[in-house]
Amino acid sequence: MALRRDDLETLRAAIRNAGLRATPSRIAVLHLLRSAGSPVSHSDVVAKLASQTWDPATIYRNLTDLSDVGLARRTDVGDHVWRFEATTGHQAQAHPHFVCTECGSVECLPDLEYEVTRAKAPRAVRLKRVEIQLRGPCDACM
Ligand SMILES: [Zn+2]
Ligand SMILES: [Zn+2]
Repeated sequence: MALRRDDLETLRAAIRNAGLRATPSRIAVLHLLRSAGSPVSHSDVVAKLASQTWDPATIYRNLTDLSDVGLARRTDVGDHVWRFEATTGHQAQAHPHFVCTECGSVECLPDLEYEVTRAKAPRAVRLKRVEIQLRGPCDACM
């Protein structure tokens, strides 16, 4: 994955502004999250950065560091695997995800809106502090 000089500067600045040191592995991990169109797991990131020499533990720490400072978000779509996504672009706000029941692929649904029509719903639901997930076959598995 080639990185343009401008992109590199943008990534560096984002990491530094968040109070972290802009190490090469953090830059690579953030770049990957920002270019991915859907949430990626730790093993996805390790596989995609396989040409690099960073060990999986370093990459895991990078993912949690980026999440701790708000540059990434952690999601569990119900399979007990943490997936990470950048908090920029279409993924800026927390949003529902679509999970394929056949192949397990995950898609972001940033434009999905929902309405609470039952007054007695739990407070977290009314405050929209809940995660919404849709499950079904994805286009490829349909
Ligand atoms: Zn599928
Ligand atoms: Zn998402």
